[in-house]
Amino acid sequence: MALPLRSVCGACRLARRGFPGVWGPALGKARPLTGGGRNASTSSFDIVIVGGGIVGLASARALILKHPTLSIGVVEKEKDLAVHQTGHNSGVIHSGIYYKPESLKAKLCVQGAALIYEYCNQKRIPYNQCGKLIVAVEQEEIPRLKALYERGLQNGVQGLRLIHQEDIKKKEPYCRGLMAIDCPYTGIVDYRKVALSFAQDFQEAGGSILTNFEVNDIEMAKESSSKSKDGTNYPIVITNTKGEEIQCQYVVTCAGLYSDRISELSGCNPDPRIVPFRGDYLVLKPEKCYLVKGNIYPVPDSRFPFLGVHFTPRMDGNIWLGPNAVLAFKREGYRPFDFSTRDVMEIIINSGLIKLVLQNFSYGANEMYKACFLNATVKHLQKFIPEITVSDILRGPTGVRAQALDQNGNLVEDFVFDAGVGDIGNHILHVRNAPSPAATSSLAISEMIADEVQQRFKL
Ligand SMILES: Cc1cc2nc3c(=O)[nH]c(=O)nc-3n(C[C@H](O)[C@H](O)[C@H](O)COP(=O)(O)OP(=O)(O)OC[C@H]3O[C@@H](n4cnc5c(N)ncnc54)[C@H](O)[C@@H]3O)c2cc1C
Repeated sequence: MALPLRSVCGACRLARRGFPGVWGPALGKARPLTGGGRNASTSSFDIVIVGGGIVGLASARALILKHPTLSIGVVEKEKDLAVHQTGHNSGVIHSGIYYKPESLKAKLCVQGAALIYEYCNQKRIPYNQCGKLIVAVEQEEIPRLKALYERGLQNGVQGLRLIHQEDIKKKEPYCRGLMAIDCPYTGIVDYRKVALSFAQDFQEAGGSILTNFEVNDIEMAKESSSKSKDGTNYPIVITNTKGEEIQCQYVVTCAGLYSDRISELSGCNPDPRIVPFRGDYLVLKPEKCYLVKGNIYPVPDSRFPFLGVHFTPRMDGNIWLGPNAVLAFKREGYRPFDFSTRDVMEIIINSGLIKLVLQNFSYGANEMYKACFLNATVKHLQKFIPEITVSDILRGPTGVRAQALDQNGNLVEDFVFDAGVGDIGNHILHVRNAPSPAATSSLAISEMIADEVQQRFKL
Protein backbone atom coordinates (compact mmCIF):
# COMPACT_ATOMS: atom_id res chain seq x y z
CA MET A 1 0.00 0.00 0.00
CA ALA A 2 1.45 3.36 -0.99
CA LEU A 3 1.27 6.06 1.62
CA PRO A 4 0.33 9.60 0.67
CA LEU A 5 3.09 12.12 0.29
CA ARG A 6 3.17 15.01 2.73
CA SER A 7 5.03 18.18 2.08
CA VAL A 8 4.22 19.97 5.35
CA CYS A 9 6.50 19.34 8.29
CA GLY A 10 4.37 17.78 11.03
CA ALA A 11 5.93 19.90 13.78
CA CYS A 12 5.11 23.16 11.95
CA ARG A 13 1.54 22.02 11.36
CA LEU A 14 1.00 21.07 14.99
CA ALA A 15 2.67 24.23 16.27
CA ARG A 16 0.32 26.33 14.15
CA ARG A 17 -2.62 24.49 15.72
CA GLY A 18 -1.44 25.28 19.22
CA PHE A 19 -0.67 21.71 20.29
CA PRO A 20 0.98 21.79 23.70
CA GLY A 21 4.45 20.39 24.14
CA VAL A 22 5.76 20.36 20.58
CA TRP A 23 9.50 20.09 20.73
CA GLY A 24 11.12 23.03 19.01
CA PRO A 25 14.36 22.86 17.05
CA ALA A 26 16.25 23.80 20.23
CA LEU A 27 16.92 20.43 21.86
CA GLY A 28 15.90 19.96 25.47
CA LYS A 29 13.18 22.59 25.48
CA ALA A 30 9.50 22.24 24.86
CA ARG A 31 8.46 25.24 22.83
CA PRO A 32 5.56 27.01 24.57
CA LEU A 33 2.75 27.52 22.14
CA THR A 34 0.12 30.18 21.95
CA GLY A 35 -3.40 29.78 20.67
CA GLY A 36 -4.94 27.68 23.43
CA GLY A 37 -5.57 23.97 23.60
CA ARG A 38 -7.35 21.83 21.10
CA ASN A 39 -9.87 19.09 21.48
CA ALA A 40 -10.79 18.05 17.97
CA SER A 41 -8.96 15.24 16.24
CA THR A 42 -7.30 17.27 13.54
CA SER A 43 -3.66 16.17 13.61
CA SER A 44 -2.59 13.27 11.51
CA PHE A 45 0.55 11.34 10.75
CA ASP A 46 1.44 8.44 8.53
CA ILE A 47 3.35 6.81 11.39
CA VAL A 48 3.36 7.57 15.13
CA ILE A 49 6.01 6.28 17.50
CA VAL A 50 4.94 6.07 21.15
CA GLY A 51 7.84 6.70 23.57
CA GLY A 52 10.69 9.18 23.41
CA GLY A 53 13.45 7.00 24.85
CA ILE A 54 16.51 5.90 22.89
CA VAL A 55 14.67 3.04 21.14
CA GLY A 56 11.71 5.21 20.05
CA LEU A 57 13.92 8.08 18.92
CA ALA A 58 16.36 5.83 17.05
CA SER A 59 13.39 4.12 15.35
CA ALA A 60 11.78 7.45 14.42
CA ARG A 61 15.10 8.61 12.95
CA ALA A 62 15.58 5.39 10.97
CA LEU A 63 12.01 5.52 9.63
CA ILE A 64 12.19 9.12 8.46
CA LEU A 65 15.62 8.62 6.86
CA LYS A 66 14.20 5.61 5.00
CA HIS A 67 10.89 7.28 4.11
CA PRO A 68 11.55 11.03 3.90
CA THR A 69 8.17 11.75 2.30
CA LEU A 70 6.08 10.31 5.14
CA SER A 71 4.86 12.40 8.07
CA ILE A 72 6.14 10.79 11.24
CA GLY A 73 5.51 11.83 14.84
CA VAL A 74 6.89 10.79 18.22
CA VAL A 75 4.67 11.16 21.29
CA GLU A 76 6.18 11.20 24.77
CA LYS A 77 4.40 11.53 28.11
CA GLU A 78 7.12 13.51 29.88
CA LYS A 79 8.01 17.14 29.19
CA ASP A 80 11.53 16.05 28.20
CA LEU A 81 12.87 13.19 26.13
CA ALA A 82 14.94 10.22 27.31
CA VAL A 83 14.39 10.74 31.03
CA HIS A 84 13.60 7.18 32.06
CA GLN A 85 15.76 4.12 31.34
CA THR A 86 17.73 6.01 28.70
CA GLY A 87 18.62 8.69 31.24
CA HIS A 88 19.21 6.30 34.16
CA ASN A 89 21.69 3.65 33.10
CA SER A 90 25.34 2.62 33.41
CA GLY A 91 26.25 4.23 30.10
CA VAL A 92 28.24 1.21 28.94
CA ILE A 93 28.69 0.45 25.24
CA HIS A 94 28.51 -3.32 25.55
CA SER A 95 30.59 -5.49 23.25
CA GLY A 96 28.07 -8.36 22.89
CA ILE A 97 29.98 -11.03 24.83
CA TYR A 98 27.17 -12.10 27.18
CA TYR A 99 24.34 -13.05 24.90
CA LYS A 100 23.26 -16.44 23.55
CA PRO A 101 24.78 -16.90 20.07
CA GLU A 102 22.24 -16.24 17.29
CA SER A 103 19.93 -14.38 19.68
CA LEU A 104 18.69 -10.93 18.71
CA LYS A 105 20.66 -9.50 21.63
CA ALA A 106 23.91 -11.05 20.40
CA LYS A 107 23.43 -9.89 16.80
CA LEU A 108 22.04 -6.44 17.52
CA CYS A 109 24.51 -5.65 20.32
CA VAL A 110 27.59 -6.49 18.22
CA GLN A 111 26.19 -4.51 15.27
CA GLY A 112 24.84 -1.76 17.52
CA ALA A 113 28.13 -1.12 19.34
CA ALA A 114 29.92 -0.59 16.01
CA LEU A 115 27.12 1.72 14.85
CA ILE A 116 27.16 3.75 18.11
CA TYR A 117 30.94 4.33 17.84
CA GLU A 118 30.54 5.35 14.19
CA TYR A 119 27.60 7.66 15.01
CA CYS A 120 29.43 9.31 17.94
CA ASN A 121 32.46 9.92 15.69
CA GLN A 122 30.23 11.46 13.02
CA LYS A 123 28.34 13.70 15.46
CA ARG A 124 31.32 14.37 17.74
CA ILE A 125 29.52 12.98 20.76
CA PRO A 126 32.15 12.24 23.41
CA TYR A 127 32.73 8.60 24.35
CA ASN A 128 35.58 6.64 25.87
CA GLN A 129 36.53 3.19 24.64
CA CYS A 130 38.08 2.42 28.02
CA GLY A 131 37.62 -1.37 27.86
CA LYS A 132 36.39 -3.83 30.42
CA LEU A 133 37.67 -6.70 32.54
CA ILE A 134 35.30 -9.51 33.54
CA VAL A 135 37.07 -10.87 36.59
CA ALA A 136 36.91 -14.29 38.27
CA VAL A 137 37.81 -13.91 41.94
CA GLU A 138 37.01 -17.49 42.98
CA GLN A 139 38.35 -20.71 41.48
CA GLU A 140 34.80 -22.00 40.91
CA GLU A 141 34.06 -19.05 38.58
CA ILE A 142 36.82 -19.95 36.12
CA PRO A 143 34.88 -22.54 34.05
CA ARG A 144 32.02 -20.01 33.65
CA LEU A 145 34.52 -17.30 32.68
CA LYS A 146 36.06 -19.56 30.02
CA ALA A 147 32.61 -20.46 28.68
CA LEU A 148 31.78 -16.75 28.47
CA TYR A 149 35.01 -16.13 26.55
CA GLU A 150 34.06 -18.85 24.03
CA ARG A 151 30.60 -17.30 23.70
CA GLY A 152 32.16 -13.90 22.99
CA LEU A 153 34.32 -15.42 20.25
CA GLN A 154 31.24 -17.09 18.77
CA ASN A 155 29.40 -13.77 18.80
CA GLY A 156 32.27 -12.14 16.87
CA VAL A 157 33.33 -9.72 19.65
CA GLN A 158 36.59 -8.03 18.71
CA GLY A 159 39.85 -8.19 20.65
CA LEU A 160 38.91 -10.62 23.46
CA ARG A 161 41.75 -12.14 25.53
CA LEU A 162 41.84 -14.40 28.58
CA ILE A 163 44.37 -12.92 30.99
CA HIS A 164 45.90 -13.93 34.33
CA GLN A 165 46.72 -12.18 37.60
CA GLU A 166 49.80 -10.26 36.44
CA ASP A 167 48.02 -8.89 33.34
CA ILE A 168 44.96 -7.94 35.42
CA LYS A 169 47.32 -5.82 37.58
CA LYS A 170 48.80 -4.15 34.47
CA LYS A 171 45.33 -3.05 33.38
CA GLU A 172 43.78 -2.41 36.80
CA PRO A 173 46.53 -2.03 39.40
CA TYR A 174 44.13 -2.12 42.37
CA CYS A 175 42.01 -5.06 41.16
CA ARG A 176 42.61 -8.59 42.35
CA GLY A 177 41.47 -11.64 40.42
CA LEU A 178 42.52 -15.12 39.36
CA MET A 179 41.65 -14.80 35.69
CA ALA A 180 39.80 -12.25 33.55
CA ILE A 181 38.42 -11.61 30.10
CA ASP A 182 39.97 -8.47 28.69
CA CYS A 183 37.37 -6.82 26.49
CA PRO A 184 38.96 -3.74 24.89
CA TYR A 185 35.97 -2.99 22.62
CA THR A 186 33.72 -1.95 25.56
CA GLY A 187 33.25 1.78 26.04
CA ILE A 188 31.19 4.40 27.84
CA VAL A 189 28.96 7.19 26.59
CA ASP A 190 26.10 9.39 27.82
CA TYR A 191 23.08 7.70 26.21
CA ARG A 192 20.78 10.66 26.88
CA LYS A 193 23.08 12.78 24.71
CA VAL A 194 22.98 10.13 21.99
CA ALA A 195 19.16 9.95 22.18
CA LEU A 196 18.79 13.74 21.98
CA SER A 197 21.02 13.73 18.93
CA PHE A 198 18.72 11.11 17.32
CA ALA A 199 15.81 13.47 18.12
CA GLN A 200 17.62 16.34 16.43
CA ASP A 201 18.31 14.25 13.29
CA PHE A 202 14.64 13.24 13.23
CA GLN A 203 13.38 16.81 13.51
CA GLU A 204 15.85 18.11 10.94
CA ALA A 205 14.48 15.48 8.54
CA GLY A 206 10.94 16.85 9.10
CA GLY A 207 9.71 14.69 11.98
CA SER A 208 7.51 16.00 14.82
CA ILE A 209 7.93 15.41 18.53
CA LEU A 210 5.04 15.94 20.92
CA THR A 211 5.96 15.93 24.61
CA ASN A 212 3.50 16.01 27.54
CA PHE A 213 1.43 13.56 25.49
CA GLU A 214 0.61 10.52 27.62
CA VAL A 215 -1.09 7.92 25.47
CA ASN A 216 -4.23 6.63 27.12
CA ASP A 217 -5.93 4.80 24.27
CA ILE A 218 -5.11 3.43 20.83
CA GLU A 219 -8.09 2.21 18.82
CA MET A 220 -9.48 1.80 15.32
CA ALA A 221 -11.24 4.98 14.14
CA LYS A 222 -14.97 4.97 13.52
CA GLU A 223 -15.46 4.97 9.74
CA SER A 224 -16.84 8.52 9.65
CA SER A 225 -13.90 10.07 11.49
CA SER A 226 -11.13 8.17 9.79
CA LYS A 227 -10.87 10.41 6.73
CA SER A 228 -8.93 13.67 6.74
CA LYS A 229 -9.94 16.70 4.63
CA ASP A 230 -7.77 15.50 1.75
CA GLY A 231 -9.54 12.12 1.88
CA THR A 232 -6.59 10.23 3.32
CA ASN A 233 -7.48 7.25 5.41
CA TYR A 234 -6.29 7.32 9.05
CA PRO A 235 -7.63 4.17 10.65
CA ILE A 236 -5.97 4.61 14.07
CA VAL A 237 -6.90 7.14 16.74
CA ILE A 238 -4.45 7.78 19.57
CA THR A 239 -5.91 9.62 22.58
CA ASN A 240 -3.95 11.10 25.46
CA THR A 241 -4.88 11.58 29.11
CA LYS A 242 -6.16 15.11 28.35
CA GLY A 243 -8.59 13.76 25.76
CA GLU A 244 -6.59 15.10 22.80
CA GLU A 245 -6.45 12.90 19.72
CA ILE A 246 -4.16 12.31 16.81
CA GLN A 247 -4.85 10.04 13.88
CA CYS A 248 -2.44 7.91 11.97
CA GLN A 249 -2.07 4.96 9.67
CA TYR A 250 0.56 3.00 11.59
CA VAL A 251 1.93 2.89 15.13
CA VAL A 252 5.20 1.65 16.61
CA THR A 253 5.24 1.48 20.42
CA CYS A 254 8.53 1.79 22.34
CA ALA A 255 7.22 2.52 25.83
CA GLY A 256 9.91 0.93 28.02
CA LEU A 257 8.50 0.31 31.51
CA TYR A 258 4.95 0.66 30.15
CA SER A 259 5.28 -1.53 27.08
CA ASP A 260 2.81 -4.14 28.41
CA ARG A 261 0.21 -1.53 29.38
CA ILE A 262 0.46 0.19 25.99
CA SER A 263 0.03 -3.14 24.23
CA GLU A 264 -2.98 -3.98 26.40
CA LEU A 265 -4.69 -0.62 25.91
CA SER A 266 -4.37 -1.05 22.15
CA GLY A 267 -6.30 -4.32 22.47
CA CYS A 268 -3.19 -6.47 21.98
CA ASN A 269 -1.60 -9.06 24.24
CA PRO A 270 -0.69 -7.91 27.78
CA ASP A 271 1.93 -10.70 27.97
CA PRO A 272 4.83 -10.60 28.45
CA ARG A 273 4.29 -8.42 31.52
CA ILE A 274 6.86 -5.88 32.58
CA VAL A 275 8.40 -6.26 36.00
CA PRO A 276 10.27 -3.21 37.25
CA PHE A 277 13.65 -3.87 38.89
CA ARG A 278 15.33 -1.00 40.76
CA GLY A 279 19.06 -0.62 40.37
CA ASP A 280 20.79 1.58 42.96
CA TYR A 281 24.28 2.90 42.32
CA LEU A 282 26.96 3.96 44.76
CA VAL A 283 29.51 6.60 43.79
CA LEU A 284 33.20 6.51 44.62
CA LYS A 285 34.41 9.70 46.31
CA PRO A 286 36.50 11.78 43.85
CA GLU A 287 39.74 11.28 45.81
CA LYS A 288 39.34 7.49 45.38
CA CYS A 289 38.59 7.42 41.66
CA TYR A 290 42.22 6.50 40.95
CA LEU A 291 41.31 2.96 42.12
CA VAL A 292 39.42 2.20 38.89
CA LYS A 293 40.64 2.74 35.30
CA GLY A 294 38.05 1.01 33.10
CA ASN A 295 34.95 -1.13 33.59
CA ILE A 296 35.36 -4.01 36.05
CA TYR A 297 32.57 -6.62 36.02
CA PRO A 298 31.98 -9.87 37.93
CA VAL A 299 31.41 -13.20 36.20
CA PRO A 300 27.63 -13.07 35.69
CA ASP A 301 25.21 -15.46 37.34
CA SER A 302 23.66 -17.24 34.36
CA ARG A 303 20.29 -17.56 36.15
CA PHE A 304 19.65 -13.83 35.82
CA PRO A 305 19.69 -11.36 32.94
CA PHE A 306 21.47 -8.74 35.09
CA LEU A 307 25.24 -8.48 34.90
CA GLY A 308 25.96 -8.00 38.59
CA VAL A 309 27.33 -5.05 40.54
CA HIS A 310 30.18 -3.54 38.57
CA PHE A 311 32.64 -0.62 38.60
CA THR A 312 31.90 1.82 35.79
CA PRO A 313 33.70 5.04 34.89
CA ARG A 314 31.36 7.85 33.78
CA MET A 315 31.92 10.43 31.10
CA ASP A 316 32.09 13.14 33.81
CA GLY A 317 35.00 11.40 35.55
CA ASN A 318 32.95 9.83 38.36
CA ILE A 319 33.05 6.12 39.11
CA TRP A 320 29.71 4.38 39.71
CA LEU A 321 29.42 1.10 41.58
CA GLY A 322 26.32 -0.96 40.94
CA PRO A 323 23.54 -1.38 40.11
CA ASN A 324 21.91 -3.96 42.35
CA ALA A 325 18.62 -5.59 41.27
CA VAL A 326 15.68 -5.21 43.65
CA LEU A 327 12.00 -5.62 42.80
CA ALA A 328 10.54 -2.10 42.55
CA PHE A 329 7.19 -1.06 44.02
CA LYS A 330 6.64 1.50 41.30
CA ARG A 331 7.49 1.70 37.61
CA GLU A 332 9.64 4.82 37.20
CA GLY A 333 9.94 5.04 41.02
CA TYR A 334 13.43 6.34 41.67
CA ARG A 335 13.17 7.10 45.40
CA PRO A 336 13.48 4.28 47.95
CA PHE A 337 9.89 4.58 49.22
CA ASP A 338 8.14 5.23 45.90
CA PHE A 339 5.03 3.07 45.80
CA SER A 340 2.18 2.58 43.35
CA THR A 341 -0.84 0.59 44.44
CA ARG A 342 -1.64 -0.40 40.86
CA ASP A 343 1.92 -1.57 40.19
CA VAL A 344 2.07 -3.55 43.43
CA MET A 345 -1.37 -5.10 42.84
CA GLU A 346 -0.20 -6.23 39.42
CA ILE A 347 2.85 -7.83 41.01
CA ILE A 348 0.66 -9.63 43.57
CA ILE A 349 -1.88 -10.98 41.09
CA ASN A 350 0.77 -11.93 38.55
CA SER A 351 1.25 -15.62 39.22
CA GLY A 352 4.40 -15.72 37.10
CA LEU A 353 6.02 -13.15 39.32
CA ILE A 354 5.09 -14.92 42.55
CA LYS A 355 6.75 -18.04 41.12
CA LEU A 356 9.87 -16.06 40.24
CA VAL A 357 10.04 -14.57 43.73
CA LEU A 358 9.64 -17.95 45.42
CA GLN A 359 12.23 -19.61 43.17
CA ASN A 360 14.80 -16.89 43.79
CA PHE A 361 13.92 -15.94 47.33
CA SER A 362 17.43 -16.06 48.78
CA TYR A 363 18.93 -14.09 45.86
CA GLY A 364 16.19 -11.44 46.17
CA ALA A 365 16.54 -11.20 49.96
CA ASN A 366 20.31 -10.84 49.62
CA GLU A 367 19.95 -8.03 47.04
CA MET A 368 17.43 -6.30 49.34
CA TYR A 369 19.82 -6.63 52.28
CA LYS A 370 22.70 -5.17 50.25
CA ALA A 371 20.47 -2.29 49.15
CA CYS A 372 19.76 -1.42 52.80
CA PHE A 373 23.23 -1.94 54.25
CA LEU A 374 26.21 -0.36 52.52
CA ASN A 375 28.59 -2.62 54.44
CA ALA A 376 27.22 -5.66 52.64
CA THR A 377 27.74 -4.13 49.18
CA VAL A 378 31.23 -2.95 50.13
CA LYS A 379 32.12 -6.47 51.23
CA HIS A 380 31.17 -7.67 47.75
CA LEU A 381 33.16 -4.87 46.07
CA GLN A 382 36.22 -5.67 48.19
CA LYS A 383 36.46 -9.06 46.48
CA PHE A 384 37.64 -7.06 43.46
CA ILE A 385 39.28 -3.99 45.00
CA PRO A 386 40.23 -4.78 48.61
CA GLU A 387 41.20 -1.17 49.36
CA ILE A 388 37.64 0.15 49.07
CA THR A 389 36.02 1.00 52.41
CA VAL A 390 32.57 2.25 53.41
CA SER A 391 33.99 5.75 53.93
CA ASP A 392 35.08 5.88 50.24
CA ILE A 393 31.54 5.70 48.87
CA LEU A 394 28.35 7.71 48.73
CA ARG A 395 24.84 6.69 47.73
CA GLY A 396 24.27 7.57 44.07
CA PRO A 397 21.45 7.63 41.53
CA THR A 398 18.92 4.90 40.79
CA GLY A 399 17.56 3.40 37.60
CA VAL A 400 14.54 1.16 37.06
CA ARG A 401 14.82 -1.62 34.50
CA ALA A 402 11.89 -2.82 32.42
CA GLN A 403 12.22 -6.59 32.42
CA ALA A 404 9.67 -8.76 30.66
CA LEU A 405 8.33 -11.85 32.43
CA ASP A 406 6.42 -14.66 30.74
CA GLN A 407 3.30 -16.29 32.20
CA ASN A 408 5.39 -19.12 33.67
CA GLY A 409 7.50 -16.77 35.74
CA ASN A 410 10.55 -16.88 33.46
CA LEU A 411 12.45 -13.67 32.82
CA VAL A 412 12.40 -13.15 29.06
CA GLU A 413 16.02 -12.95 27.99
CA ASP A 414 15.93 -11.75 24.43
CA PHE A 415 14.57 -8.58 22.84
CA VAL A 416 10.91 -9.07 21.87
CA PHE A 417 9.07 -7.31 19.05
CA ASP A 418 5.43 -8.17 18.66
CA ALA A 419 2.88 -7.54 15.92
CA GLY A 420 -0.51 -6.70 17.34
CA VAL A 421 -3.67 -8.82 17.05
CA GLY A 422 -7.05 -8.24 15.38
CA ASP A 423 -7.75 -5.31 13.05
CA ILE A 424 -5.32 -3.07 14.83
CA GLY A 425 -2.66 -5.75 14.45
CA ASN A 426 -2.28 -4.85 10.80
CA HIS A 427 -1.30 -1.33 11.81
CA ILE A 428 0.82 -1.69 14.93
CA LEU A 429 4.21 -3.02 16.00
CA HIS A 430 5.11 -3.24 19.69
CA VAL A 431 8.60 -3.28 21.18
CA ARG A 432 7.85 -5.54 24.16
CA ASN A 433 11.22 -6.22 25.76
CA ALA A 434 14.18 -3.92 25.24
CA PRO A 435 16.31 -4.19 28.38
CA SER A 436 20.12 -3.88 28.46
CA PRO A 437 21.92 -3.78 26.02
CA ALA A 438 19.13 -1.98 24.12
CA ALA A 439 20.87 1.40 24.47
CA THR A 440 24.05 -0.05 22.88
CA SER A 441 21.91 -1.81 20.28
CA SER A 442 19.56 1.11 19.58
CA LEU A 443 20.80 1.89 16.07
CA ALA A 444 20.77 -1.77 15.05
CA ILE A 445 17.29 -2.22 16.60
CA SER A 446 16.07 0.84 14.72
CA GLU A 447 17.26 -0.54 11.37
CA MET A 448 15.47 -3.80 12.12
CA ILE A 449 12.28 -1.96 13.06
CA ALA A 450 12.42 0.22 9.95
CA ASP A 451 12.78 -2.93 7.77
CA GLU A 452 9.98 -4.67 9.67
CA VAL A 453 7.65 -1.68 9.34
CA GLN A 454 8.36 -1.45 5.61
CA GLN A 455 7.62 -5.13 5.05
CA ARG A 456 4.71 -5.54 7.42
CA PHE A 457 2.90 -2.36 6.39
CA LYS A 458 3.96 -2.61 2.72
CA LEU A 459 5.30 0.96 2.64
C1 LIG B 1 20.00 0.68 35.80
C2 LIG B 1 20.13 0.42 34.31
C3 LIG B 1 21.39 0.21 33.74
C4 LIG B 1 21.51 0.00 32.36
N1 LIG B 1 22.75 -0.07 31.78
C5 LIG B 1 22.86 -0.16 30.44
C6 LIG B 1 24.12 -0.09 29.80
O1 LIG B 1 25.15 0.13 30.45
N2 LIG B 1 24.18 -0.25 28.45
C7 LIG B 1 23.06 -0.48 27.70
O2 LIG B 1 23.18 -0.65 26.49
N3 LIG B 1 21.84 -0.51 28.28
C8 LIG B 1 21.72 -0.34 29.61
N4 LIG B 1 20.49 -0.33 30.20
C9 LIG B 1 19.31 -0.56 29.37
C10 LIG B 1 18.91 0.67 28.59
O3 LIG B 1 18.96 1.84 29.37
C11 LIG B 1 17.50 0.44 28.06
O4 LIG B 1 17.49 -0.82 27.41
C12 LIG B 1 17.08 1.49 27.04
O5 LIG B 1 17.26 2.77 27.57
C13 LIG B 1 15.62 1.25 26.66
O6 LIG B 1 15.19 2.35 25.90
P1 LIG B 1 13.64 2.56 25.64
O7 LIG B 1 13.53 3.70 24.71
O8 LIG B 1 13.05 1.25 25.26
O9 LIG B 1 13.03 2.88 27.08
P2 LIG B 1 12.94 4.26 27.88
O10 LIG B 1 14.21 5.00 27.84
O11 LIG B 1 12.43 3.90 29.24
O12 LIG B 1 11.87 5.08 27.09
C14 LIG B 1 10.50 4.74 27.05
C15 LIG B 1 9.73 6.04 26.93
O13 LIG B 1 8.35 5.75 26.73
C16 LIG B 1 7.61 6.77 27.38
N5 LIG B 1 6.26 6.31 27.64
C17 LIG B 1 5.86 5.30 28.43
N6 LIG B 1 4.52 5.22 28.45
C18 LIG B 1 4.06 6.21 27.65
C19 LIG B 1 2.76 6.65 27.29
N7 LIG B 1 1.64 6.07 27.78
N8 LIG B 1 2.63 7.70 26.44
C20 LIG B 1 3.73 8.31 25.94
N9 LIG B 1 4.99 7.95 26.28
C21 LIG B 1 5.16 6.90 27.11
C22 LIG B 1 8.41 6.97 28.68
O14 LIG B 1 8.09 8.20 29.31
C23 LIG B 1 9.83 6.89 28.18
O15 LIG B 1 10.36 8.15 27.85
C24 LIG B 1 20.34 -0.08 31.56
C25 LIG B 1 19.08 0.16 32.13
C26 LIG B 1 18.98 0.44 33.48
C27 LIG B 1 17.63 0.78 34.05
